[in-house]
Amino acid sequence: MRVRRLLLVGSLLLASLRLVASDTAHDQAHSQAAAPASGAAPAVDSGEAFRFLVEGNARFLEGKPSGAGRDDVRRLDVAKNGQHPFATVLSCSDSRVPVELLFDQGIGDVFVVRVAGNVSDTDEIGTIEYGVGHLNTPLLVVMGHTGCGAVKAVMDGAEVHGSIPALVDNVAPAVRLARSKFEGSPRLFQEAVRMNVWMSIEDIFKHSEEVRSLVKAGKLQVVGALYMLETGAVIWMGEHPEKTRLMTPPGSRPSLPAGGTRPTAKPAVAAKTAATGH
Ligand SMILES: [Zn+2]
Repeated sequence: MRVRRLLLVGSLLLASLRLVASDTAHDQAHSQAAAPASGAAPAVDSGEAFRFLVEGNARFLEGKPSGAGRDDVRRLDVAKNGQHPFATVLSCSDSRVPVELLFDQGIGDVFVVRVAGNVSDTDEIGTIEYGVGHLNTPLLVVMGHTGCGAVKAVMDGAEVHGSIPALVDNVAPAVRLARSKFEGSPRLFQEAVRMNVWMSIEDIFKHSEEVRSLVKAGKLQVVGALYMLETGAVIWMGEHPEKTRLMTPPGSRPSLPAGGTRPTAKPAVAAKTAATGH
């Protein structure tokens, strides 16, 4: 039932995003094999790409992964003919979040960026632009997860050294916003993870003209997701609630009020303040 319910949620989300999904059974391997060379139009649209991930996670949840595309045939095919992934996924490096496994995908199916806290800083955004702009994936998923150590470290004010402060300062604004709304609540940690997903998406839109133009052209959908470590389920969060604002180039947006937090309706995303130095 849980799997069916998740599929239903995924389907509703699909409809809400106005994504197009084929009614016919789709042979993913065929689609991938038929994908055009890099630089050409993608073989699948964002609706189909989304459905591949929803259905793959359902197979993973049922304990019946297909394991398709993990054999020598696929390995040799993509080595010879190049990669044609159908989705770009930004996720955490946490070893408990194995992206291809939890979506039951094979070699060459998903262009994955993994970094602690699934943050979007310069290198991550550059990699994402390669995925959506050069490999033409029609779908970008930013996926946080329960029990994220990077978010927890910021919440706990853990002392960090080396290059880690520059990493976790990307997470700090989301934690501050979560604290402002959920301090003392048992939901605080998970809400901070969710807001960190929105923050990461906001950073991508803010710093990537390419992503903004692809979304504007209808060639790319950007959605958030939350992976539940305990159950293996992916909870789909949909598009950023302030997508319209994010589509506006940063220079032409209204400036932030003193204190740096935007007075927005929830679910909102904290703005990075000068105090973060980032
Ligand atoms: Zn994590």
